[in-house]
Amino acid sequence: MKAVAVLPGNPNSVHLRDIPQPKLADQPHPHVCRIPEGRAVLVKVLQVGVDATDREINEALYGNAPPGGNHLVIGHESFGQVVEVGSKVTELKVGDYVSCTVRRPGGSLFDVIGRNDITSEETYYERGINLCHGYMTEYFVDDAEYMVKVPVQLKHLGVLSEPASVCAKAIEQAYLAQQRLQVWNPKRAFVMGSGQIGLLATMMLRLRGLEVYTLATKPGPHRKSEIAEAYGATYVSMKQTTLHDLAKKVGRPDIIFEATGNAEACFRAMEVLNLNGALVWTSITGGSHKVEIDAAKINLEWVLGNKLLVSSVNGNRHHFELGIQALSHGEMMYPGVTQRILTHPVPGLDNYQEMMRLLVEDKEALKVFVNVA
Ligand code: BGC
Ligand code: ZN
Repeated sequence: MKAVAVLPGNPNSVHLRDIPQPKLADQPHPHVCRIPEGRAVLVKVLQVGVDATDREINEALYGNAPPGGNHLVIGHESFGQVVEVGSKVTELKVGDYVSCTVRRPGGSLFDVIGRNDITSEETYYERGINLCHGYMTEYFVDDAEYMVKVPVQLKHLGVLSEPASVCAKAIEQAYLAQQRLQVWNPKRAFVMGSGQIGLLATMMLRLRGLEVYTLATKPGPHRKSEIAEAYGATYVSMKQTTLHDLAKKVGRPDIIFEATGNAEACFRAMEVLNLNGALVWTSITGGSHKVEIDAAKINLEWVLGNKLLVSSVNGNRHHFELGIQALSHGEMMYPGVTQRILTHPVPGLDNYQEMMRLLVEDKEALKVFVNVA
């Protein structure tokens, strides 16, 4: 069957290759973990989304092949349909729509208790990213433990399950950490960035009843500003209103969700957070980027204001479930809005070059995904 892969370490090596079609009895990552007897699920891939991580993997800035080979099948944002289940799988049946989590457990205590998203080991195993093959192929097998059901009524948004899990986890982490305050009733949120993560975070914070400002560079109106506003948020171009001016005008935010991919923005966000507030960092910033900040001022304000920084990556099955619930709730509250994120469908795995081109070059491409079947 067809698969889209890279040769980690070699820039621009994305290619189509032929790999064996998996069988229910296969062990997809024997170097990491084994599927218990009877617990395997075989999935037909319907759609796979791509993001900046895939771009960096193709640029050879990130990612590793599984041991014993030199290629890595990419794709970590999965959506598919169950075609066969093992004898001990009771929670899924043939025909169900699913998304599959990204991380597989290493050996730390956190991995053992099902929290591989907060593993304390340096090495993490991620399908389509690091040391495990991904989903950009026609079929895959994995443990039912990692498959998360997508309601039929939500299948048009199923490919957003993984990005939604990342947002749901980050927001949940902030709320959990804020229990330190005994009472925390956040009113205002700034979401920095209007890519898929920024927009899904905008929706999730609106669903919690917050007044949300979604900040990005380009002045609206355009698709991203329209989506943010359709969720009931206010879109702000930082070319027109600076972060400080916005905070002065509308009040300082109790929560800032940072998803710009820009390291300076992560630190600038620290300058405007409200007393007792929480700043959530989700950007994965490669390379090196030096900035000048007034460290004494930030430190003083943060100490005197009891402020919190929480960083968050990945999502386990609980976060996938939360993400899918939020997508469902969002569809009820803001019907038809979230699908506007899905801007650039690519027909079939054969068009992998076009997929990569859109991801790298097209500034209008909010979300690129492949319609595999
Ligand atoms: C993925 C996460 C992953 C992270 C780090 C992101 O693009 O969505 O699941 O943990 O990259 O590799
Ligand atoms: Zn990702």
